[in-house]
Amino acid sequence: MTDLAFTRTAAERLPAAEREAILRDPGFGNHFTDHMISIVWTVDAGWHDAEVVPYGPIAMDPASSVLHYGQEIFEGLKAYRRPDGSIVTFRPEANARRLNESAHRLALPELPEELFVRAIRELVTVDADWVPNGQDQSLYLRPFMIADESFLGVRAAERARFLVIASPAGPYFAGGVRPVSIWLSEGLARAGRGGTGAAKCGGNYAASLLPQRIAAANDCQQVLFTDSATVDTIDELGGMNLFLVRADGTLLTPQLNGNILDGVTRRSLIQLARDRGHAVEERDLTVTEWRAGVADGSITEAFACGTAAVITPIRRLAGEGFEIDFGDGAPGALTMSLREELTGIQGGIREDRHGWLEVL
Ligand code: PMP
Repeated sequence: MTDLAFTRTAAERLPAAEREAILRDPGFGNHFTDHMISIVWTVDAGWHDAEVVPYGPIAMDPASSVLHYGQEIFEGLKAYRRPDGSIVTFRPEANARRLNESAHRLALPELPEELFVRAIRELVTVDADWVPNGQDQSLYLRPFMIADESFLGVRAAERARFLVIASPAGPYFAGGVRPVSIWLSEGLARAGRGGTGAAKCGGNYAASLLPQRIAAANDCQQVLFTDSATVDTIDELGGMNLFLVRADGTLLTPQLNGNILDGVTRRSLIQLARDRGHAVEERDLTVTEWRAGVADGSITEAFACGTAAVITPIRRLAGEGFEIDFGDGAPGALTMSLREELTGIQGGIREDRHGWLEVL
């Protein structure tokens, strides 16, 4: 049912002065816009009741399936304001496709891609005043789907809801890009063969929180997850994909092995690097290869990538009983130039030669 019309309950939740104060320093994930999207699905009627409603709490039955069995998926993308004042989103159809891949794995209903893109457009249009225009600012969009049938049996729910909320976001690195340290999680995994690692579902993130806490206790900002059997073949970080750069300019990144998320930033960087003539190898990578490459000088840069921070340079890898520092800790040259190119396209400063921007 893709011709679904959105009914709109327009109301400003916050006075303009309060909104503007928030937009001056929004941080990340702290504040929410005036509205949200809600679309209901039932096994009998499909998708219906598409609404733009004031942002606020949602009523749920305590027996709602998502609260017991975690049948939930989500997405993350951003809307950017360009220097001419227009607003764009970045590859929203890629997020629509990935949401449906996650839906398939979690036995949730698929949402027509066109309806996903339209829901994003509706929300950003009604809350356009919430799209900040400062350097490196954006409006972070969080589409998600929950199973909300009131039933305690363990089976796929026959009722679900798709929602989109939005949160203004400031620069990820206040005061300039800061390289991070990452912690190799040895005993704790987020995904395994045949599991839900390639789906963007809440459970994967729940599984990453304890390792994340251990990482923080070891002065690391992110966790590196590997194949749980060998603790060597690299998967990804808790919320970002990983790249290594060889001295000859070749980029290396783990292939989509069923355990890792097919990141939109990852895909985009692979394209931009190939456009520049760099070789990009998507294959199994190991911590052993990484350590040896740093030791003999053949691996010169490492970075993580994702929607939130675009590119995060990595300066150190630590784990139980070892620590490797990469170079002098400064962000690598290729890392920073790819970052500059992608943020330039997203911010409307560089040409969008692949047609990645959706203008609202
Ligand atoms: N891996 C994981 C586990 C993530 O949560 C994210 C963030 N969505 C990514 C990779 C990067 O994906 P994207 O570039 O689409 O944001």
